[in-house]
Amino acid sequence: MPLDLSGRSTMTDSLKDAQDAAQRVRYARDRAQERAEAQGPGGGERFRFDMAKNGLRISPSVTPDLAARLSAVLSRLRVPSSSIEAYVYQSSEIQAMCCMVNVRAAVLSFSSGLIQLLSLEEFEFVAGHEIGHFLLGHEARATNVGSLDYFLQYPAQEISADRIGLLACGSVEAGVRALMKTGCGLGDDHLRFDVSAYISQLRDLKTPDLRSAAMPTHPSMAVRCRALLWFDMYSGSGGGGRGTSLSKLDGLVAKDLEAFCEQPMRQRLQQHKDDYLLWYAAYLAVEDGRLEKYEQSALKTLLAEVDTRAGEPQDYTYNKLMGHVTGMSVADVLGFVMERLQDARKLLIQETGDRYAAEKHDVESLVERRFGECRKAAFK
Ligand SMILES: [Zn+2]
Repeated sequence: MPLDLSGRSTMTDSLKDAQDAAQRVRYARDRAQERAEAQGPGGGERFRFDMAKNGLRISPSVTPDLAARLSAVLSRLRVPSSSIEAYVYQSSEIQAMCCMVNVRAAVLSFSSGLIQLLSLEEFEFVAGHEIGHFLLGHEARATNVGSLDYFLQYPAQEISADRIGLLACGSVEAGVRALMKTGCGLGDDHLRFDVSAYISQLRDLKTPDLRSAAMPTHPSMAVRCRALLWFDMYSGSGGGGRGTSLSKLDGLVAKDLEAFCEQPMRQRLQQHKDDYLLWYAAYLAVEDGRLEKYEQSALKTLLAEVDTRAGEPQDYTYNKLMGHVTGMSVADVLGFVMERLQDARKLLIQETGDRYAAEKHDVESLVERRFGECRKAAFK
C-alpha cells in the first residue's frame, strides 16, 4: 500500500484511535505538544526520498520476516499500514529513527547493524517504540536539541515510546533485552547476563541504586528498563490491577528520572555556570588593572558561594586563584583571566544551547549585584 501523502483524515479513522490509545499511556511528564499540522514538503519528505534511494524497503517479497513482524506491530497498535513506510539502510551503527512525513504518515529507518543485533521479537519492540514517537507527535517538538529543556524532555519521551514498544511486542523480556542490546551494542553471543535475574532485581523496589556495578547498563538505561517493568505490571494486569494506577506509576518513574538523570544534569549545568561565574567575577575585579578592596571582598563572597555548592572547603577557589596570579604582571593576569572566561563561555554555550542567553544573564546579574553590594558597603 502506498504511503498516505495526502495528510487528510477520513471518517473511519483508525489512526486517530491508535493516537488516542497512545495518549492514554503517555508518561505524565512527557508533555503533549501541538501537532504540526500539514507539514509541507519538508524534512520528512526528503528523508523518505533518501531512504527510498539508498535504503532497502521492508516488504513481504524482500524481507518477509521483518515485513511480517512490522505488520503484526501495526495491527496490534491499530495503525493503518498506509501510515508507515520502513527501510533498512547499511550502517554498523545501532540506530532506529522515525521521521514524520505529515500528520498521517511517517517513515521508519533501521540501520542494518541494529537489525543484525536484534531478534525478531526485539525488533517488534523497537519498531513499536519508533511508531510510538509518531503516534505521540514527538517530532512536532520545538525544543532545541542541546538545551537543558531538551535533555529533560527527551528521557520523558523515551519512557512514553517504550510503553508503546511494549504494547507492540507484548513481551517485557524482549523489551528489556532490546534496550540492553541497543544500549551497549552487544548481541546474544556476548551478552551473557541473565535477563530474568536482572528483571527480578529491578522489580524489587527496594533496590535503591541504579548506578551500582550490579546494573549492567548506564543509569538512564536502567531507569528505562525499570519503568518498562512497572508499566508491564500495570498493563499486564489489565491496567489499575493490584492497586497500581498509571499516575502512581508515573510518580515512581519521575522519582527515578529525577535522581538518576535530571539531578546529574542540573549539577553539571550548575558546574558550568559556576565556572563562568568564577571567571566573569575575576574579570570584573581586574578589568581596570587594579584589584580594589571591595572587589576583592565581592570576589571572595562569590567564590565562597561556589565552594559551598561544590562542597569545597572555605575559600578554596579564592585561594587557588590568588595563588595562581600572585607574582604575575597586571597585563598577564588580565590576559589569563580573559582566556579562561572565553573557555568558560564556550562550554556554557555548548551546555545550554538556546538557553544560553538566559543562563548567562542569570550568572552575570548575580555577579554584578554582589559587586554592587560590596562597593556600597565599602564607600558608606
Ligand atoms: Zn526513542
